[in-house]
Amino acid sequence: MKIRIYGARGAIPAPGEKTQKYGGNTSCVLVSYEENQKKIIIDAGSGIRVLGENLIKEENLDIHIFLTHFHSDHIMGLPFFLPFYQKSAQITIYGPNPVDNSMEKFVKSYIENHEIAARLGNIQAALIFRELNEETFSLESLKVKTQRVNHPVKCIGYRFELNEKSVTFTIDHETYFDGINAEGKAVKESEKLNAKHIEFIRNSDILLSDAQYLPDEYRQYMGWGHSSILDAINRAIAANVRILVLFHHDPNREDKQIDKIVTHYRRVIERKKLPIKIYAAREGWEYLC
Ligand SMILES: [Zn+2]
Ligand SMILES: [Zn+2]
Repeated sequence: MKIRIYGARGAIPAPGEKTQKYGGNTSCVLVSYEENQKKIIIDAGSGIRVLGENLIKEENLDIHIFLTHFHSDHIMGLPFFLPFYQKSAQITIYGPNPVDNSMEKFVKSYIENHEIAARLGNIQAALIFRELNEETFSLESLKVKTQRVNHPVKCIGYRFELNEKSVTFTIDHETYFDGINAEGKAVKESEKLNAKHIEFIRNSDILLSDAQYLPDEYRQYMGWGHSSILDAINRAIAANVRILVLFHHDPNREDKQIDKIVTHYRRVIERKKLPIKIYAAREGWEYLC
């Protein structure tokens, strides 16, 4: 599997000279496999625009988009994804059920009510929709596993397995705690829920994880559905993850700060002789596994 990041920012795009290195686009990752013949996309944040421009050069596209949830930072790029306007393309969209709507209705009206769609004409590609709960299924050679994660709206974590390798995405997720959770519901069994989550990410070759806040900031945003960098690292260590990619960078986080964070935690890991490797998600970053 080859992973390429097109957007790693959370909440809102954050372009500018202080975010050039890690990039300002919101959540979007391409995973290609079987010698680049097969492609899946995780999330459709602003980063998917550039990805779409690359993809339309190919004929008869068969693309699978896995949406984690419907907060705007994860779907704002949908209307700008040019393969939607290509007759020969087939696009399958997976995701949770958006509240009070079917995913098909939600996604189609989100695209068609945008000015770019008015200019390019309506959707031309053949669309297939699949609403997901917690399940395991095969997409030809690829095994897909899903798990609900802790976020103020229904949000899915994805795990993809191929030839003994696994890549897991928990892009918006907060460690469960007893009290009022990210969805505003009372939680009493956080220990059990966290253990279930650790099993979901266990032994991942690569985990792309929500790591929006510094531990000090997190106290202020507890219950918002995002993780501190330290929580993301602790979960990955507990689950024996090989490579952790810190994802969903806060829009205010500058390149210099991200560099500092990575250097700091790499030192801690080295000191403790832990086998995990840590990176901060960066647009254009590619990894093979
Ligand atoms: Zn988000
Ligand atoms: Zn969200």
